[in-house]
Amino acid sequence: MLRAIVHASEVLTGAGIRQKDGKNIQEADMGRIPDGAVVFSTRRVGGKEVPHRVEWVGPTAALPKRYARVRKQDLKGRRAVIPGLVDCHTHLVFAGDRSDEFALRCGGASYEEIAARGGGIASTVRATREASAAELERLAVERMREMAAFGVRTIEIKSGYGLSVEAELKQLDVVARLRKRFPELTLSSTFLGAHAFPKDRSREEYLEDLHERMLPEVARRKLAEACDVFIDQGYFTVEEARRLLQAARKRGLQVKVHADELGDTGSAKLAAELGALSADHLLKVSDEGVAALAASETVAVLLPGTAFYLKAPHAPARKLLSAGVRVALSTDFNPGTCVCLSLPLIMTIAALYLGMTRAEILAAVTYNAARALGLQARKGTIEAGRDADLAVLPFPSFEESYYRFGWSARGAALNVTKV
Ligand SMILES: [Zn+2]
Repeated sequence: MLRAIVHASEVLTGAGIRQKDGKNIQEADMGRIPDGAVVFSTRRVGGKEVPHRVEWVGPTAALPKRYARVRKQDLKGRRAVIPGLVDCHTHLVFAGDRSDEFALRCGGASYEEIAARGGGIASTVRATREASAAELERLAVERMREMAAFGVRTIEIKSGYGLSVEAELKQLDVVARLRKRFPELTLSSTFLGAHAFPKDRSREEYLEDLHERMLPEVARRKLAEACDVFIDQGYFTVEEARRLLQAARKRGLQVKVHADELGDTGSAKLAAELGALSADHLLKVSDEGVAALAASETVAVLLPGTAFYLKAPHAPARKLLSAGVRVALSTDFNPGTCVCLSLPLIMTIAALYLGMTRAEILAAVTYNAARALGLQARKGTIEAGRDADLAVLPFPSFEESYYRFGWSARGAALNVTKV
């Protein structure tokens, strides 16, 4: 079935962003169409009618006659339509909360001190291991609904709060269940068993678990598209990460890296060397790391919500952008370092503290974020033949969605049943 949206105050197609493959993005690359229209097909999945492919996009006045009888939603010039947002780095499936730690941090304790007292990741691991799959799913559903209401149409979800064969697989099983439950969203699943070392296994034992038990099962059951490793002091070394990521690639998974967050470990360079989909965080990336990323296919995923929440210095976004690195933005939603489901709030931080322009921000939450998941062939722009992932904003301009910081989501994702 065909549907159409007409008289959008503006449609940002992002076509120029795709043409430049996400690098050196300028204002004109946003592909702004004032008084725009989009025609798209829908399909039925599990009793729901969901948007499928973009058929046509252009000015409402130029809508071809063949679409005259298509059912239309008239936005009356009050709402903008942009490519559905892509949140390409989240830790959405977990149990427990760490609000007590937040109080300690506000009292002056550092994240490292709290972790040393048994808080931090270890505290979420305990709660996640104890929770049933059904409880994890229930918690995740609430979070996904809130994210989607901001216009997010694609969400990456990492495991990494199980840190045992059973609990890591349980987390990834929940992602598989969520995928079935939300046919209108695209989920990308990442195996992050190498998030930290669990307290109940030795380093050697856990590395063996990862290589011999988790990775083979994740690959066999196709539970994840990518494998990620947290490289940092006190976590995984560059050498351990290289070995695991190479093994993951042999089993058909893509690779990603939590890179240079707490210190410069040279992990951005490793990501570039391995041709990783993305190197994420990069607060402490070296000039050498920046150059390596610029010469690679790897997307730099910046997560400025974590620097904001930990009161840490931000990643050198302008340095990365000037060097010609593709930059994406994401929430990094997690219970410790960024308890934030709002991608628009992250965009506000990027505008103010990373010095990113509005065209760079649009690219960073659409095409480049899709590229960080390997989905750029069909997602991240509004163009004929590509996925009809549309965010209909409750504002007349894209910029208003992050100029109004901290707004409550009022439903920015396209709900076809209301068309
Ligand atoms: Zn993360």
